[in-house]
Amino acid sequence: MKIASKDVSAVSMVKEALEKAKRCKNYNIFTSLNEESALHRAKEIDEKIARGEDAGRLAGVPYALKDNFLSKEGNTTASSKILEPLRAPLDSTTVEKLEAEGAIMIGRTNMDSFAHGSSTENSYFGPTLNAYDKERVAGGSSGGSAVAVAKGIVQFATGTDTGGSIRQPASFNGVYGFKPTYGTISRYGVVAMASSTDCIGFFARSASDIDLLMSVCAGQDPKDLTTLPDYYNEKNDKEIKKIGIIKDFDLSKVDPAIKTAFDNKVAELKKDGHEVVELSMPALKYALAVYYIVVPAEITSNLSRHDGIRYGYRSEDAKSLDDVFSMSRGAGFMPENKRRIMIGNFVLSSGFYDAYYLKAQKARTLIIDEYKKAFEKCDFILTPVSPNPAFKLGEKVGDPVSMYLEDVMSVPLNLAGVPGLAIPAGETESGLPVGLQIVGPRRSDKALLEFAGKIAGEAKINEEVE
Ligand code: GLN
Repeated sequence: MKIASKDVSAVSMVKEALEKAKRCKNYNIFTSLNEESALHRAKEIDEKIARGEDAGRLAGVPYALKDNFLSKEGNTTASSKILEPLRAPLDSTTVEKLEAEGAIMIGRTNMDSFAHGSSTENSYFGPTLNAYDKERVAGGSSGGSAVAVAKGIVQFATGTDTGGSIRQPASFNGVYGFKPTYGTISRYGVVAMASSTDCIGFFARSASDIDLLMSVCAGQDPKDLTTLPDYYNEKNDKEIKKIGIIKDFDLSKVDPAIKTAFDNKVAELKKDGHEVVELSMPALKYALAVYYIVVPAEITSNLSRHDGIRYGYRSEDAKSLDDVFSMSRGAGFMPENKRRIMIGNFVLSSGFYDAYYLKAQKARTLIIDEYKKAFEKCDFILTPVSPNPAFKLGEKVGDPVSMYLEDVMSVPLNLAGVPGLAIPAGETESGLPVGLQIVGPRRSDKALLEFAGKIAGEAKINEEVE
């Protein structure tokens, strides 16, 4: 990570990041930029450095914030109309911790509205374009954050991963994207999607940069009771010998470039002396169905607070209380938000609760157990992130199920709460990035990032604007 010092000023780093962000305007990466306050903070950091004071481990590093993190700076919209007028009264714990170490937020990044999606096409502000092909999607839901790093605008960006939203856009744009163990980073101050799978994580150029960000942001937070006791920085000298590959994922059906990247990485690992172990994980075939029952159920509950009364958008035409709810929510949510609210209500409704929600929770337990057993046989697991590289804009918007199928290899980790890192692993013939993911047991986050640092290098950054 390039940190401000006596030789490189924070002001010059922030100016450069803002200029690059403006040059990439057509990619629709940011929902808002923070020019004035970012430059003001940069000056303060430079003054600290000039006085010889400690300006923090992330002194002057410009970063991009996914638009579902609350911060007093700018409006938190979660790329929705219903939250567009929201000025947050507080900073999320992540923002607080990053800024205490001197990092400077230059802007908020575009996303699928409320993080529902895999392409950033569900944003109220329109889609973000892929860093390598403007006719293709950025991935989602944290598409803006992934492209902000891939275009070299910022050295890191925050993301949320409820079912792949960090790892999939990272792999679509050739950068690193990390979803930690559930509960490692506080969710306080982040717009909730599905509380039992929501994770805060990062996009960056290398595993070691993510390790630094994790050591700043991980830790127990009294404001989020699901956070784990501080474990991240504990030393772990375990030697990584055995890598699992899941035979239940039929790789003959994935894009050939992804299969080749996978086969190459397995061959490399073997050559470096790792033992490759085949795993049978039959319960994973239920993961996608389980996810699209449990997650909409939680979404329904979490989105009920957006009622047009307490905060956010309220329809001007409403004449009765019922109108306020239905007209504000009707105009404020995107179609995908509404689809999930309806699915969630359906699977929770009496008569269907046992058949869908309860059954899905039981299957979730099977999936959790399966990962536990798998990690008795290996140290980490290697899989693709998604079956395809970035698809064409508009290609899947009319077919939600084909969009959901893109998440088939990313959502199992969220259901089990285990960590996963997307690493850049090659490209297709036409130059689209291809990613793989390394999956570890709960709380193996640091060891996983260290291992990734050994088997994969710095991400390639594509600064070309055309
Ligand atoms: N694509 C997944 C979904 O649409 C993931 C979302 C996420 O991780 N926020 O639910």
